[in-house]
Amino acid sequence: MSAPSTGSSAPLSFNNTEIAFQSKSNFDLKKSYLIFKTFNYQMLVKTGTRLINFAFSLHLPIDGLVKKTVFAQFCGGENILECEETVKHLAKYHIGTILDYSVEGKEEEADFDATMHEIIHTIEKARNNPAIPFCVFKTTGIARFDLLAQVSAGEKLEDMDKAEYARVRHKFENICRAAADANVKIFVDAEESWIQDAIDQLATDMMRKYNHKTAIVYNTVQLYRHDRLEFMKASHRDSVSGSYYLGLKIVRGAYMEKERERAERLYYPSPIHANKENVDRDYDAAIRYCVEHASNIYVCAGTHNENSSKLLAELLLEKDIAKNDKRFYFSQLLGMSDHISFNLSQHGYNVAKYVPYGPVKAVMPYLFRRAQENTSVKGQAGRELQLIAAEMQRRKMK
Ligand SMILES: Cc1cc2nc3c(=O)[nH]c(=O)nc-3n(C[C@H](O)[C@H](O)[C@H](O)COP(=O)(O)OP(=O)(O)OC[C@H]3O[C@@H](n4cnc5c(N)ncnc54)[C@H](O)[C@@H]3O)c2cc1C
Repeated sequence: MSAPSTGSSAPLSFNNTEIAFQSKSNFDLKKSYLIFKTFNYQMLVKTGTRLINFAFSLHLPIDGLVKKTVFAQFCGGENILECEETVKHLAKYHIGTILDYSVEGKEEEADFDATMHEIIHTIEKARNNPAIPFCVFKTTGIARFDLLAQVSAGEKLEDMDKAEYARVRHKFENICRAAADANVKIFVDAEESWIQDAIDQLATDMMRKYNHKTAIVYNTVQLYRHDRLEFMKASHRDSVSGSYYLGLKIVRGAYMEKERERAERLYYPSPIHANKENVDRDYDAAIRYCVEHASNIYVCAGTHNENSSKLLAELLLEKDIAKNDKRFYFSQLLGMSDHISFNLSQHGYNVAKYVPYGPVKAVMPYLFRRAQENTSVKGQAGRELQLIAAEMQRRKMK
C-alpha cells in the first residue's frame, strides 16, 4: 500500500458517491447496477439459485458466465494469485485486503489439511505486506462440524474422536503459530452458536499464547446473541488477568434464521435477540466498550451498518485516538458497502475488505448467501442500488 492517506478534513459522510465509486469505471458501475437490480427480485434470485445449482449438477460449462458476473462482483479470484489485481486495486485507495478462502462444507481430513495449508499460504502472502493487514479462517474449514458441536455441548468423546480433536487443535495452532511467526494478524470467524464454545476455547487459548506483544489472534463476537456483550467483557477480564492483548472482530451475526429455526425445533430459548433494536444497542455498546478499554483491546468493526461505523469513527475523534491507530479497523465485504469503505479510508481511517476466493463452484454457497441477504428491498440491495444510481446520475450515464 502507498503512504497512508492523511485524511480529508471535510466531515465524514457516507453519501459521497463520487468517493464511494471512484475505483469503478462506468462499465463496472453499470455491471454492479445490473447485479443488484437482479438481486432486488426475490423470485429471480430463487430461480437463479436453482438453475445454477442444476447446471453445475449437470456439469454444464457455466463457470465462465458466473465468473464474469456475480463472482467478479464479490470475489477476488479462484486462487491467491488471481486476487493480486484486487489487492493492488484496493491498496491504491488505502484499503487493505483480507484474503478469505471461501470453500465450505468439507468433511474429510484431507480437505481440512488442504485448507490449513491454504490459510498458511495467505499468511505467507501477507508477511511484510501492508496491503494485506489481516488473514482469516473458519474453524469449520479445518474441523468436522459435528465434532465441534459435541465438544461445545460438553459431550464425553470416544477415543477416536479425542484423537481427531487433538488433530483439530494442532491445525488451529499451526495456523496461529504461522501468523505469529510472520507477524500477521489473524481473525477466527464466528459461526453457529452450538459450535461456538469450542471455537471460543480454541481462539482464547491461542490469544493467551500469542497475543503478548500485540494482538495476533482475533476472536469474533456476534452481537445478535444476547449473551455476547457479557462474554466479551469476560474475555476482556481474562486478557487483563492473563496480561495479553484481546483481539476482537465484532459483528452482528450471519446465522439468525438458522439459529431461530433450530431453537424452535429443539425447544430451547433462542440465543438471538428478539429484535434488531436490541442487536444494534449491544453492537454499539460493544464498540463503546472497546474504545473505553483501548489500552489492551484491538478491534475490527466488521459491519455494513452506517450508524455503527460512524459511531466508531466519532468515538476515536472524541477520545483523541489517531484515525489510523492500528488498534482500530473497519471492515466490509468486497463488492458491498463501498460507500462506507472508501469514504472511511479517504478520511484516513483503517479499512480492510474481505476478499473471498476459491474455485467458482466451491464458492457458490458464499455467493448464494450474498444474493439472499441482498434480496430485501429494505436491506442492502436497495441501499446499494440507490447509491449506484445516484453515482450514475452524477456521471450523467445513461
Ligand atoms: C468484515 C465482516 C466480517 C464478518 N464476519 C462474520 C463472522 O465471523 N461471523 C458471522 O456470523 N458473521 C460475520 N459477518 C456478517 C455479519 O455478522 C452480518 O451478518 C452482516 O454484516 C450484516 O450486519 P451489519 O452489521 O453489516 O448490518 P445491519 O444491516 O445493520 O444488520 C443486519 C444484521 O442484524 C441482525 N438482525 C437483523 N434483523 C434482526 C432481527 N429482527 N432480530 C435480531 N437480529 C436481527 C442480523 O445479524 C443481520 O445480519 C461479517 C461481516 C463483515 C462485514
